[in-house]
Amino acid sequence: MSELRLNSITNDWVVMVGREKSPQDYVIKEKRKLPEFIESCPFCPGNEIHTPSEVYRIRDENGWRIRVVPNKYAVLSPDIEKMRKEEGLKKSITGVGIHEVIIESPLHNLTTAIMSVSQIKDVLQTYKERFLALYNDRRIEHVIIFKNQGLSSGTTIQHPHSQIVGLPIVPLQIRERAAKAMNFFDNTGDCIFCKTLNEELSSCIRIICNTEHFVSFIPYASLSPFHIWIFPKRHSGSFSTIKEDEIWDLAFNLKSTMAKLYYGLENPDFNYVLRSGKPAEAELEYLHWYISIVPRVAQASGFELGSGMYINPLLPEVASEFLRNVKTGGEHAF
Ligand SMILES: [Zn+2]
Ligand SMILES: [Zn+2]
Repeated sequence: MSELRLNSITNDWVVMVGREKSPQDYVIKEKRKLPEFIESCPFCPGNEIHTPSEVYRIRDENGWRIRVVPNKYAVLSPDIEKMRKEEGLKKSITGVGIHEVIIESPLHNLTTAIMSVSQIKDVLQTYKERFLALYNDRRIEHVIIFKNQGLSSGTTIQHPHSQIVGLPIVPLQIRERAAKAMNFFDNTGDCIFCKTLNEELSSCIRIICNTEHFVSFIPYASLSPFHIWIFPKRHSGSFSTIKEDEIWDLAFNLKSTMAKLYYGLENPDFNYVLRSGKPAEAELEYLHWYISIVPRVAQASGFELGSGMYINPLLPEVASEFLRNVKTGGEHAF
């Protein structure tokens, strides 16, 4: 019953273990309820002095809706010179970079699935502002935006927040995937992402949410159960080109997709990552930005570590059918 599938965008082989598990096996058993406010949380209103000074804010009548602050525990610092060192095989660059936290709401217990569409729209707008601002620093070569929610996603702070990191180098994985996409374009004249999207739209079996400008779906060779991609329908190499109406539509699509996970799997921890080229790469015909969502419902094992391959015990077709059938609470949920 098992099958090895190639993910032609990430270039990973995935062992699909047939029907070993059912979607219900991934439903979170232990219900967790958080309060709206926690006195000791550095991101809750009233505790603003516990974060470094803001670099960006969306105001409202109560003070703020969104704040962006430098990460107190930043892995890289903007205050040092970018310098390379080389000694034989030993190469290094000073730890220069930018690491910011985007506090998505004053409310401690929100998650993307239950935020209002307009709040998510503001979060996405903030991503765009900071994405452009970080690339304005000439020392920055690559910017990633990601969100960790819940303890098994790698965060210790439950308050809804995202992070944006500007790196002084382009990571190998990013280079390799871009090179592969370029190669595909050279051989076929197609963008591999547009082609993937068209194939998914014509078969429909792995689609979760299809809105005016975006499609969320579980990839044919998803690396883990319920691993989801959201692709923009309009070809663009960089998130920086997103327009106002597309931001609204992405907010709606992201909320709808996250609501499927929230109601279907009982609020699983998750990570999502925005994968994009630089603003200067927006026009490239082979690059196409997108969002990847990974609910933390399964653990990687030594097999993954040792082989660089993945094992996925839940067929993408089964997982997406399950999510399509999840009731997200009707109108009031939006
Ligand atoms: Zn909080
Ligand atoms: Zn494309």
